[in-house]
Amino acid sequence: MMMLSIVVPCYNEEEVLPEMAKRLFSFLDDLAHRQIISNASRVYFVDDGSHDRTWSLIEQQAAMDSRAYGIKLSRNRGHQNALLAGLLHAEGDAVISVDADLQDDLNAIEQMVDEFNAGRDIVYGVRKRRDTDTRFKRITAEGYYRMLALMGVEVVFNHADYRLLSRRAIEALRQFREVNLFLRAVIPLLGFSASIVSYERKERFAGESKYPLKKMLSLAWQGVTSFSAVPLRMITISGFMIFLGSLSITLWAVGVRLFSDQAVPGWASTVVPIYLMGGIQLLGIGVIGEYLAKTYMETKARPLFIIEQQIPCRNNEPMKDAHPPHS
Ligand code: UDP
Ligand code: MG
Repeated sequence: MMMLSIVVPCYNEEEVLPEMAKRLFSFLDDLAHRQIISNASRVYFVDDGSHDRTWSLIEQQAAMDSRAYGIKLSRNRGHQNALLAGLLHAEGDAVISVDADLQDDLNAIEQMVDEFNAGRDIVYGVRKRRDTDTRFKRITAEGYYRMLALMGVEVVFNHADYRLLSRRAIEALRQFREVNLFLRAVIPLLGFSASIVSYERKERFAGESKYPLKKMLSLAWQGVTSFSAVPLRMITISGFMIFLGSLSITLWAVGVRLFSDQAVPGWASTVVPIYLMGGIQLLGIGVIGEYLAKTYMETKARPLFIIEQQIPCRNNEPMKDAHPPHS
């Protein structure tokens, strides 16, 4: 039987935490009772520097139930970092991350475990519909996923951070040293076999969203800038186009001067340099940007490869790092 761990990031979630824990544990009881998961399965609550009673509620849970574990971050570091702290700490054969506010349907956990047992390393929870989101959020979010795809960032459409990762997927994730963390685009980089489980997204159980527009925009921007150099490439391309355009204006102006008497004195010498210099400067900035993007990616020191299997089988050995370990 598999040992399952569940990671729940919590930021000021005093209103939902007791109910979340109650439902989660009774759900795990049921799974353990039906011998789908082992009794050693755990729940890790990560307190992301809350200012309310969240941590003392987590302590209470741990006192009541030996399956409850708590991780307290020293200050608010944001959802993605809290999640990573939980994922990298959790023990078990597979780890599922789920929001604290009961928006993600817990029943999907069982399907995720089934997929895991069928040999999947990554199981993405995907929202069927977005009825419970506001129109604004739905349109911006779906537009955003499409834009990421256009920029060549691989993400799973309508998947947020409700997912199962196998032990070896977590060990592979450990090799990523991103400081600007956008998990939903890092996970597809891991490779391994993956599948999708769809679920209905509900209303937040209580309290208000801990993702105000500002945090959401910063996460969205993070997703673009951490994974794509397309914005820089666009500067290079537009600089090149303007440069070509102004070269043809130059030729045209010379033609007008030589073969007609329509030439306006001073026009070419005033207008042409404006476009030509503008184009050259944009092109220059774009080229610098391209090198900057390369440097940026190098500093991330992402692993170059992740080994899925080896013959003869060495599954029990710790995974060899593609990098020398950080000192
Ligand atoms: N969260 C967190 N740190 C933060 C903001 C949010 O750990 O700085 C957690 C929060 O407690 C919840 C999850 O991230 O478990 C998702 O947040 P929320 O439900 O408020 O986002 P929404 O569903 O509105 O996008
Ligand atoms: Mg929520």
